[in-house]
Amino acid sequence: MNLNERVLSMEAQLLTCLQENLRIPSVQGEAAEDAPYGVEVRKSLEHVLSAAQALGFRTENVDNHLGWCEYGEGEEMVAVLGHLDVVPAGDGWSFDPWGGEIRDGRIWGRGTMDDKGPSIAALFALAALRDSGLPIRRRIRLLFGCNEETGSQDVKYYLAKGGEVPVMGFTPDAEYPVINGEKGIINVTFSRNYQQSGDLQVLEIHGGTAPNVVPAAAWAKLACSQALAQHITQLSAPKVCFTATEYGVLVEAEGISAHGSTPEQGENAIGRLILALDMLPFEGEMAAVVHFLASTLGMESDGRSAGIYLHDEVSGGVTLNWGTLDGDEKRLSMKINYRYPVTKSYEDCAPTLDAAFAAAGFVKDTEQHKAKLYIPEDSQLVTTLLKVYAQHTGLEGKAKCIGGGTYAKMLPNILAFGPIFPGDEVREHKPDEFIEIPKLMKNAQIIASAMYEMAK
Ligand SMILES: [Zn+2]
Repeated sequence: MNLNERVLSMEAQLLTCLQENLRIPSVQGEAAEDAPYGVEVRKSLEHVLSAAQALGFRTENVDNHLGWCEYGEGEEMVAVLGHLDVVPAGDGWSFDPWGGEIRDGRIWGRGTMDDKGPSIAALFALAALRDSGLPIRRRIRLLFGCNEETGSQDVKYYLAKGGEVPVMGFTPDAEYPVINGEKGIINVTFSRNYQQSGDLQVLEIHGGTAPNVVPAAAWAKLACSQALAQHITQLSAPKVCFTATEYGVLVEAEGISAHGSTPEQGENAIGRLILALDMLPFEGEMAAVVHFLASTLGMESDGRSAGIYLHDEVSGGVTLNWGTLDGDEKRLSMKINYRYPVTKSYEDCAPTLDAAFAAAGFVKDTEQHKAKLYIPEDSQLVTTLLKVYAQHTGLEGKAKCIGGGTYAKMLPNILAFGPIFPGDEVREHKPDEFIEIPKLMKNAQIIASAMYEMAK
């Protein structure tokens, strides 16, 4: 029996194990003793680790943050990183999200694609590889994370506890063929206090909902005299509305929403609002604030005027999304989400943006940085995974870079590989999540071959 046949011979066992785990609603819950992400997540981990033990693998539970099983000998280790926590079921299901039901050649339930299906496929792929007797010179470790959906503290904990870093590996938690680059992502909050003077003053200003969403609406309530209000309401700007009110003027701007990783596909309502405000006769500090924001950010999605435009061949340019703006008579604060190309670094852009805002009197209140990930196309890992992908699908795969972040960012030397095939609809986080059983088994075969190729 060759490796592919061995994987297929495990189908019944794999499905039973997956069904059992799907019946554990491992959504993050309240932390309890020995259950940092809640008792259901712990149960899900314990279930997989005992299945791994029953298959004869060494296992370790890292304080219920993450667990792993391992096969083979050798100085070096290669890894497959999956996760057992899931997002809440939500509404709109025609199946029991926690039933693990098999119907129409599919297995249904929360986690079938993301990421219990691929994680348990990897477990039986490892058993098939062992049973095949194919010689390997590196250990193969399957890591079962427990906190991917709500912060990825699991892998951080593993690393902080001295968890071994693989020499190479992948996470089946995105799509095929291979994602070999993920832009660096910076979320930053700037705020500024001010004193207003003159006839025209901001009462309240708002726009956006989250840093990684292009805002579709923004508005400002401005206090001013009747005479000035009359003048302002004569102005016109595309997709901006000036309305006279009892306090002065309401300015409303419309945009088009898009994901924060592709802001060029949207129109930023906050930027549009600020450009409109920049036409108005503010005085003193507010005039300076508005003009700075209009001339530095405006509606741009590439950070050009902010001085942080960078570009590379493999992943394209910087993207910048001005996600939120909230202010009143005395203070405003704003959140920006920006992403830099995979061959560049934090130092290439963040200090420049920070300096521009500092010079304009802003304070940086918070910042999160997820460093870029890049494993070149000619690396052994990328060429190996693409070869395996081509063997199993007959498709010529090309590595690609994305603006979003996957689980691969959490652990050095790994990238995202599978489980979604090109052209398949994305079912993660939606009602009626399922995976076709032949595609689940195809994933198991691909994972088995990839583990063998990395470890041989
Ligand atoms: Zn996932």
